[in-house]
Amino acid sequence: MQLRFDGVAFDLDHTLLVDNRLERVALLDLIVRIDASGAPMRLSLDRAGIVADEELFRYRNEGVDLDSMLRRFVERCGGSGGEAWVPWFRQRALDLVPRMVLPMPAAGRVLPALAEANLRIAALSNGPSPLQERKAAQIGFYYPVLTSEQIGSSKPDPAAFELLATTMGLEAERIAYVGDDPYMDIAGALEAGFAGIWFDGGSKPYPADIPPPTATILSLDELLPLLAKPAV
Ligand SMILES: [Mg+2]
Repeated sequence: MQLRFDGVAFDLDHTLLVDNRLERVALLDLIVRIDASGAPMRLSLDRAGIVADEELFRYRNEGVDLDSMLRRFVERCGGSGGEAWVPWFRQRALDLVPRMVLPMPAAGRVLPALAEANLRIAALSNGPSPLQERKAAQIGFYYPVLTSEQIGSSKPDPAAFELLATTMGLEAERIAYVGDDPYMDIAGALEAGFAGIWFDGGSKPYPADIPPPTATILSLDELLPLLAKPAV
């Protein structure tokens, strides 16, 4: 089979897998632990969940580091010393992976088919190491995984995509990048010279203020036919 591309690279969260917000669960568990350790937190976990969502958003999207995120989260919940829980939080998130991470439907059959078709495969994810690697391994993704924490740049920065192409040993235009986030994944990939394949998760329409994706899919099953050259 002739292919239009030589490589395919993936976003992880909401593209190849869902983690059912395991870092949020780890944050709420942290509140329970601190409360049980003799420092009463005096708030409901529902209220702590609202704070957790806000702080995780800043952590993921605004470059806030883990120490600062935990310090702010615990302070906003009425405690102190959250940064001292960084090792515990990292381990707790890792421990939650087997119970909470689910592969996206079709990932288990599509990834081997792509490899069988001689496409090089990798992932580029905004997130911490080794959590993102552990999540990838949980769904049987044993190809290279680049994380923003590891490489020091985040999507949509073209530098992150350029490092991805280097890792894959391919020119950017020979790689299709697949992701669910129009701004982080598709706009970033297109700017770096990749094809951008938008995995439409159904929650929002594609925004009109950025370049359109090279193609849109509703299921990972659509990938192999899309990447294959038309029969001649
Ligand atoms: Mg995603």
